[in-house]
Amino acid sequence: MAASESLLQEAQKSDSRDEHTRTFSKGVELGPDGKPCRTCTSSSEWKAMFKSTKIPSKTAATTLTPTPAVAERTDCPPDIEQLGRASWTLLHSITAAYPSSPSLAKQTETRNFLSLLSKLYPCHTCASDFQTWLKEDQNAPRVSSREEFGRWMCEAHNAVNVKLGKERFDCDRWEERWRTGWREGGCD
Ligand SMILES: Cc1cc2nc3c(=O)[nH]c(=O)nc-3n(C[C@H](O)[C@H](O)[C@H](O)COP(=O)(O)OP(=O)(O)OC[C@H]3O[C@@H](n4cnc5c(N)ncnc54)[C@H](O)[C@@H]3O)c2cc1C
Repeated sequence: MAASESLLQEAQKSDSRDEHTRTFSKGVELGPDGKPCRTCTSSSEWKAMFKSTKIPSKTAATTLTPTPAVAERTDCPPDIEQLGRASWTLLHSITAAYPSSPSLAKQTETRNFLSLLSKLYPCHTCASDFQTWLKEDQNAPRVSSREEFGRWMCEAHNAVNVKLGKERFDCDRWEERWRTGWREGGCD
C-alpha cells in the first residue's frame, strides 16, 4: 500500500475513534477522492507531511515516522512542479512543431485538445484555474499560425507565472526558447 494511503487510513481511524481530527501539513492538497494529491502538492510539502504528521489520541500520542532512510530515488511519481515543467515542455513543443498555415481541421483539433487538457490536467486545482482563465474572452486560444499559437501559449504560461508570483517570460523570445535555440548561441 502506498505510504500516503496508509497515512490517510491511520488518520481516518483516529477520526472515528474520538473527537481528534486528522491534520496534514500546510500546503498538502487533497484530491477529489479526499486523499492527499501528489500532483497538486510540491515535493517539499509532500515530504513534510510524512515528517510532521502526528495522530493524537486520548490514551497515547502516536507519531507516524517515515520508513527507514533509503537512497533518494529519481523515478517517483511527479509532484506539482515536475508535472508542470514536463507539461509546459510538451505544450510549448507542440506550438514549436505547429504549421505556419494550419488547415481549419488542425485548428479545430488544437482547440479541442486545449479544452480537454484543461479538464484532464492531473492537478485538479491547476485545471480548474486554467479552465477559468480559458473562459475569459481575451484568452480564447489563437491557433491560426505557429507564431500566433506560440505567443498564446507563452501568455497562458505567463498567467500561471503571475499567479505563482514568478517573473513573466518575454514572449518575443518564445521561439528562441522552444524552437530555434537562443540567438546568442549555446543550444547547439
Ligand atoms: C496548465 C498548467 C497549469 C498550472 N497551474 C499551476 C497552479 O495552479 N499552481 C502551481 O503551483 N503550479 C501550476 N502549474 C505548474 C507551474 O506552472 C510550473 O510548471 C511549476 O511551478 C514549475 O515551475 P518552474 O519555475 O520550474 O518552471 P516552469 O514554469 O515549469 O517553466 C519551465 C521553463 O519554461 C520557460 N518559460 C517560463 N515561462 C514561460 C512562458 N511564459 N513562455 C514560454 N516559456 C516559458 C522557462 O525557460 C522555464 O524554465 C501549472 C502547469 C500547467 C501546465
